[in-house]
Order: sequence, then structure tokens, then C-alpha cells
Amino acid sequence: MKLKRMISILLSSATLLCFAACSDGGAVTTDDPQTPEITETEPETTEPETTEPETTEPGTTEAPETEPEIKYAGLDSGIVRDGTPKKYVCLCFDDATQQDLKIIERCKKYNYYDVTFFISTGLYGVDWSAAVGVPHKRFTKKEVQSGIYDGFDLASHTLNHLPLDQYQNNVKKVKSELENDAKNIYKLTGIYPVVMAWPGGDPNVTRTLMKIAYENTSIRLGRGTTSTHKFDLPKEFLWLQPTAEISEATLFSDFQRFLDAECTEDMLFFCWGHGYELDIYHSYDKLEQFIKMIAEAEGVERVTVSEFYQLFKDEIPSYIEEN
Ligand SMILES: [Zn+2]
Repeated sequence: MKLKRMISILLSSATLLCFAACSDGGAVTTDDPQTPEITETEPETTEPETTEPETTEPGTTEAPETEPEIKYAGLDSGIVRDGTPKKYVCLCFDDATQQDLKIIERCKKYNYYDVTFFISTGLYGVDWSAAVGVPHKRFTKKEVQSGIYDGFDLASHTLNHLPLDQYQNNVKKVKSELENDAKNIYKLTGIYPVVMAWPGGDPNVTRTLMKIAYENTSIRLGRGTTSTHKFDLPKEFLWLQPTAEISEATLFSDFQRFLDAECTEDMLFFCWGHGYELDIYHSYDKLEQFIKMIAEAEGVERVTVSEFYQLFKDEIPSYIEEN
């Protein structure tokens, strides 16, 4: 009883921390995302990290080359959807804090690269440890440029990790937070992100924000924070609710249920979390055990969040307009 209560308290704390320190997150549409204008300046932004405009070399007389085609994330999963129902597994972590090194080390140990990390490129090097109460220091730009996330999926957590509902549906500001982060990630990796995790989690997500994101940015999937403990595919991408959270007591039993379930239609096990939770709960061994379990599982398709979006974008709408 006492143990149960302790777990309950710890989970409540984790949820609060997730909401405090992190993010998360309906006209049926299958069209392409807004094409980002990579080379344009964003004169109205004052954010610390914004995309610099490409400039033509002085003295050049040749006509500029045709713009190279933008490479979007998640297009090279190698998975063919052949009509056979499959079990898909996504694992992702928010905030790009120093603890990600320990996560990545364990992923590499099991050759498991189908993992997504959500980063806020306006907060390089920022230390929230005092506010959060546990080590919470984000990587510097230099550290990220050194290739920490090479081979993994790097996706958007918005530029400054501010709850987007605070902008009172100001399209320009919401767009700036999403699109400038995406552009910075593109500059870093050469791959344009199409998915994000809502900062502040579900309490800060609204359908209006989803619509703004849908109509004004290239982001096509936004992850929420409420565990469903189910394996259904999402109904719409811009507020996808995960199956489980990495620190939940039911994580392993949920995953085992997923592995044991008969696969008569496509299924999804979607787990999310933060690196700093592993410090709070001293749960790196548990993480490794979970990574090993996923990496060695038979009969599952391990995909990044971006890959999952790309595989299902023609069937699952990003946003459903409500009547
Ligand atoms: Zn976050």
C-alpha cells in the first residue's frame, strides 16, 4: 500500500514536471505541408535563434542555381505498407537536455536508432535545473553541431518552448515559434522536420492552435501528453496522444500487452518521456531494459515519429475541421 502510494506520488510529480518543463500536445486533408521559405529573412522575429538568409556571393555573375529540393524527415524508413497489418513502435524524448547522451548511449548499444528527440533551438545551453529541481541543462549549439543526434530523428519542440496558448492565437507569433525552430533544425541536419511536441503539454494545446499550425507551417504532427494505454492509430496527427510515458509503472506491462496482442489491423505503441526523469527516478537501468525489449522484439516495426507520420499521412489527417 505504501509502495503504491509512493509510485502514485512520483507519477503525479512526473506529470507536473512534464507539464511544467515540457510540451506536448483535426477538414480531413492529405495535402502537402506548407513549403517553407528557407532562404527568406524573418524580419519580425527577435528570437535568439533565427534562420539567416542565404546571400549570393558578391561578384557572382552567373544565374543562381535552381533551389535544391527540401528533404523532409521520415521519408526513408524503408518500410513498405503492403496491406499486412503491422505493429509500429515509436519512442521519443523531449527538451534536448544533457541526459540525452545517456539515452543515446543505450540506444546505440542495441543498434536502435529509430528514436525521435524534440529540441527547442532557441534555448541552446539554457539551464532550468533550479526551476525544475533536477539537472535540466540543454545542449549548447556547439554540442548539438558536434553530432550528438546523428543517425536519430531530430524534431521540433518549438523555438523557445513557451506554451503556445499564451500568444492568444496570434498567427505570426505561433508560426514563428514553429517554423523558425524547424528552419534551424534544417540548417543543422539538412532534413526539414514535419513533427513536433507541444510545449507545456495538453493543457496548452487548443484546436485553434492546431489549425494555425496546420494552415501556416510545415508541421504536420504534434504530440500530446496523455497516456491512452491503447494501441489504436491516432485519429488526427496534430494532437497525437501517446500510449505510455517512460516513467509510468505500467510501461512494461503495457508493452508486453502490445507484443502479445493479435495483430489484425495496424497498431501503435507510442512512448514518450524526458531525460531528466531518468535522474529523478534513477531509472537508467529501467530505460536500458525497455530499449533492449523494443530493439529485440520480433514482429514489430521500429519507426521514428517522423517516419510514422510519413507512412500514414495519406490516411490519417493532420487536422480535422470541426463543424
Ligand atoms: Zn519540453
